[in-house]
Amino acid sequence: MSDAHLVFDALGMAYDTSEGALSALAAVSFAVSRGEFVSIIGPSGCGKSTLLKITLGVVPPTGGAIRIDGRVVAGPQIDIGMVFQTPALPPWRRVLDNVLLPIEVLDKKPADYRDKARELLDLVGLRDFESRWPRELSGGMKQRVAICRALIHDPGLLLMDEPFGALDAMTRERLQAELMRIWEETHKTILFVTHSIDEAVLLSDRVVVLSPRPGRVVEEVAIQMDRPRTAETRGTRAFQDYALHLRQMLGLARGTA
Ligand code: ADP
Ligand code: MG
Repeated sequence: MSDAHLVFDALGMAYDTSEGALSALAAVSFAVSRGEFVSIIGPSGCGKSTLLKITLGVVPPTGGAIRIDGRVVAGPQIDIGMVFQTPALPPWRRVLDNVLLPIEVLDKKPADYRDKARELLDLVGLRDFESRWPRELSGGMKQRVAICRALIHDPGLLLMDEPFGALDAMTRERLQAELMRIWEETHKTILFVTHSIDEAVLLSDRVVVLSPRPGRVVEEVAIQMDRPRTAETRGTRAFQDYALHLRQMLGLARGTA
């Protein structure tokens, strides 16, 4: 794929543990185009978080490689934003200063990014909350702040590791809709790990299904449904067919996958 933003090339990971080598990923290969929304699903422990950490450049793989724009990842990457399941906002920093945290880490001037931080807070409906403390926010609001923080330095790639997994169902649906809007407005490439099959179908251009540990690619499913996708999309035949197919791939439903 010549326009690939990300290429996973026979990526392998064996952790060194007290009980010997633990194989977490085995020869994972797939590519992600610039601007594409790709989800990764697979059973717990199959190496999804490991895959994101290797992409971020904070864990070196023990086999194969990841290339970003053709360059092999060989250390921490700056052009990436990361969102985790728990937002981990330092409680002593107000909302705006939490969004600006990566700017300080990158040794840039926060003052130059204040307007951008406010724009992002506006984008997620938190314009009036910039001076609040994290403890004054709901779980969904905290995760919105974490998304702004991941976008503040305008990275080309956003990695999300079960970002909505700890939220209640209604908040989760709202944030899914917001993420689709942000993605459409910002044209980021998004690699999104989730346990939720429905979430993967709703959001993604493509879903990569991993096997139980050690994770390897079982199938890539292109989700060919029109955008923008809404709550009504979940009720369509196409949505349900994709979700059933993925459940079968994951051994959660009977039938031929
Ligand atoms: P997932 O996110 O799909 O649940 P992980 O990538 O977190 O899976 O973990 C994959 C496997 O690797 C698990 O068996 C986990 O226990 C193991 N693992 C993850 N991180 C480490 C580590 N730092 N050292 C040893 N084993 C690890
Ligand atoms: Mg994980």
